[in-house]
Amino acid sequence: MITLNQEEKEIILGSIRDIPDFPKPGIIFKDISTMLNNPKAFQTLMNHLTDRYQSYDLDYIAGIDARGFIFGAALADRLGLGFVPVRKQGKLPYTTVAEKYSLEYGFDEVEIHIDAFGENGCSKAGEKSKVLLIDDLIATGGTAKAAANLIDKVGAHCVESCFIMELSFLNGREDFPSAVYSILEI
Ligand code: AMP
Repeated sequence: MITLNQEEKEIILGSIRDIPDFPKPGIIFKDISTMLNNPKAFQTLMNHLTDRYQSYDLDYIAGIDARGFIFGAALADRLGLGFVPVRKQGKLPYTTVAEKYSLEYGFDEVEIHIDAFGENGCSKAGEKSKVLLIDDLIATGGTAKAAANLIDKVGAHCVESCFIMELSFLNGREDFPSAVYSILEI
């Protein structure tokens, strides 16, 4: 299994900016815009993702609204695969399947197009499409678990969920419905 070496990890980590108390007091926001703006760091990350996932025999990359779109679409293009957006409620125009998840107060919902991974989630004769899910960060895991469940709900198979960063003290990977790979544990 291909993972990053320490030097490459430091290049990526060093390019991500910490913004204290955003969007509310007590949160340290991990700002990836400075990594996207740093060609060496962004390329180190994309080269690694390409090396790791080219042997997975995937059919699709699914990215979570909105930062997961950036990495997911770039990776899909490198691997010659289709890209599927997992969007917040009310944004997708065609027939959707939805999954709710709890927030600190209340609920949120993510959606996917019903035919995003082929009819009944199958791309080849009756075979479930193999999907990699990607986002920038896993915190409590609520958003990503709902997205991974959605992939299964439309009949496809979520092979792995990949995150650039994992806030491991929040245990977001506990009871996760797919394998989890995080590049930087924080
Ligand atoms: P969660 O559902 O708690 O795992 O939250 C994950 C989502 O919230 C991801 O889409 C992240 O982009 C965003 N997020 C949560 N915490 C942070 C943070 N400290 N810095 C940047 N993004 C965050």
